[in-house]
Amino acid sequence: VPELPEVETVVRDLGPQLAGQRIRSVWLTRDRAVLGRILRYPKDPAAFRQRLRGRRLEQVERRGKYIVMRLDRPPADRAEERLVIHLGMTGHLRVWKPEEPVVKHTHVRLSLESGLELRYDDPRQFGRLLLGTEAELILAGVLPRLGPEPLAAELTADDFSRLVRGRRRAIKAALLDQSFLAGVGNIYADEACFVAGVRPGRRADRLTLRERRALYSAIREVLEKSILARGSSVINYVDGFGERGSNQENLAVYGRAGEPCLRCGTPLRSTRLAGRTTVYCRRCQR
Ligand SMILES: [Zn+2]
Repeated sequence: VPELPEVETVVRDLGPQLAGQRIRSVWLTRDRAVLGRILRYPKDPAAFRQRLRGRRLEQVERRGKYIVMRLDRPPADRAEERLVIHLGMTGHLRVWKPEEPVVKHTHVRLSLESGLELRYDDPRQFGRLLLGTEAELILAGVLPRLGPEPLAAELTADDFSRLVRGRRRAIKAALLDQSFLAGVGNIYADEACFVAGVRPGRRADRLTLRERRALYSAIREVLEKSILARGSSVINYVDGFGERGSNQENLAVYGRAGEPCLRCGTPLRSTRLAGRTTVYCRRCQR
């Protein structure tokens, strides 16, 4: 499941291939059930196609787990619009040559000025596409308000510490909440808690200042390390060139329940927290 490092990798891969490109045509699958799931705004395929055709992709950015493509200003003096894509569990976004065979479950194809095609495929269709101004998408309830970016320079250890102290729930649940912190999911929440030596079930507001600071550094460390390794390919994640990442080899606890802790050798425990499988070491994490 793509989290911050995986989405960041895709954004960095696609940016140079897409920036400045005008969209010549928009192809959407004819499968109305699939479109009903992935086109979240506007929901009408014709409206979506019409609003996107002819627009220029100015910039490709990431916000939390969302890929945000800023579009050139519309002819009228309206606010800046963007194409926002969430890869869900199994979504892929990649630039292809038009003669390359279309892979199964390709639902959207955008032909670009360069002659290349941006294609979106998603076997399980948990991904979503949104098109509009930020205010419009928030008002329509399709784009949640997102918390701060964990890697942003503006988010200091003190800011993070204050945020954590204000949450009366398990620290793991807080980390998964995108309105608390944007971009961390199940993999990096467990990894960060392990590096920080904090049990994922501990109540956020009861962590000590030292633990909150350790967690702040741990989150940055696990995310940055994963970006360097081009993300974790644990299900079917591939980058913007169709290649697997290698950070799954660096994971200390995620997916390792029952295996020995890399630090102390104790078998790692698995539990459920916030509806998600959670793995931790009962000796190294307090
Ligand atoms: Zn241990």
